[in-house]
Amino acid sequence: MKILVVGSGGREHALVWKINQSPRVEKIYCAPGNAGIEKMAKCVDIGATDIDKLLEFALAKKIDLTVVGPEASLVEGIVDRFEENGLRIFGPSKAASILEGSKVFTKEFLAKYNIPTAEFKVFTTSSKAKAYIKKCGAPIVVKADGLAAGKGVIVASTIEEANEAVDMILKDKAFGSAGNTILVEACLKGEEASFIAFTDGKTVLPLPSSQDHKAIFENDKGPNTGGMGAYSPAPIVTPEISKYVMEKVMLPTVQGMASEGRPFKGMLYAGLMIDGDSINVLEFNCRFGDPEAQPLLMRLKTDIVDILDAAIDGKLDSIALEVDPRPTVCVVLAAGGYPGEYRKGLPIRGLKKAAKVPGVMVFHAGTANKDGDTVSNGGRVLGVTAIGDDLKNAIDASYRAVDCIEWEGCYCRRDIGAKAMKRFQK
Ligand code: ATP
Repeated sequence: MKILVVGSGGREHALVWKINQSPRVEKIYCAPGNAGIEKMAKCVDIGATDIDKLLEFALAKKIDLTVVGPEASLVEGIVDRFEENGLRIFGPSKAASILEGSKVFTKEFLAKYNIPTAEFKVFTTSSKAKAYIKKCGAPIVVKADGLAAGKGVIVASTIEEANEAVDMILKDKAFGSAGNTILVEACLKGEEASFIAFTDGKTVLPLPSSQDHKAIFENDKGPNTGGMGAYSPAPIVTPEISKYVMEKVMLPTVQGMASEGRPFKGMLYAGLMIDGDSINVLEFNCRFGDPEAQPLLMRLKTDIVDILDAAIDGKLDSIALEVDPRPTVCVVLAAGGYPGEYRKGLPIRGLKKAAKVPGVMVFHAGTANKDGDTVSNGGRVLGVTAIGDDLKNAIDASYRAVDCIEWEGCYCRRDIGAKAMKRFQK
């Protein structure tokens, strides 16, 4: 089979790595890819949201199966365009990707189908939003409706801060039309976890739980990033919680989307807030998480091409997922200054030495090949991922490999997995 992977991050490198293990695959292309992906796939210089060019390429190369990493391409309707042209593609349609593309749609959907989530109200005028904020008090959460590259959510600790967020989104149009409508939402407390599943629109095949580390600094301090590391499983998601999430969140969502005339096929990602017995949906994503994909795909034993194929054909009920019981950890190495301004083009040393640490796979994200050298090319640069007999071994292996790698100003959090370790020690 000829496979095309769309995207250029650590998630896509992990997808290419996993697809490359399938005996059914003869050639993998990736658009646009990165310096790590280039070692196992043919990278094509087409942007992930350039749907016309991607379609033209897939038709010309007679691609048998396309897998889409980033949400922007899905929300823009890449799946519909490929299917209209007779191509097989794994991911939700434009109508189904609304679960990530519109937070207002999702909150109203959750309320309609009685799926647990924080209380909320929808506004298009700042005066009404501010009056509601005054009535509720702080802390309170303000969200732009549409995609805003992870920046459209403000967890405000004071009423003033919340009012400023309202003005920034509704009046100053900081996120353009993605902020024509806003949500004002009750602030939940607890610990976050990711629950990610394959679905064909009927059957839901959950992967093990995982947990991201969104904040840039240790102990979850500082501004949010795309994710500074992840591990799987997340011990906060007990078997009872998993069962609850399947019954009260995942299955009702897939059934609800089907009855809304928006059948959801692809990766369904529920971002959860867990506080004891109280479990709420914070958000849905319509694709694999990044960095969660790295530790999850390292644990997946089933041939991923079989899963993707079955999902497209509505036959996921024929697949039994096999997962390595050992835990995995991914530590993200980022450019100095990220998520603010950072430099690109800096040579990265020690990649070969890092790859030799047993159980480790160094997934590339923002990297490029410059005259045969690997250089940094983004904010999140590498996802150093390790499997271990227990979580401590996986964390140690991951940091042993991290310590082999170096470039000017590179930064990582030193506490990836620490929350889970504490839970195990209790
Ligand atoms: P992402 O970058 O993951 O795409 P997003 O822009 O889609 O994020 P959300 O995931 O909805 O936005 O929210 C971002 C973060 O804000 C959450 O991970 C969580 O930490 C915090 N958050 C969102 N909603 C709430 C809430 N109701 N209560 C407390 N914290 C919240």
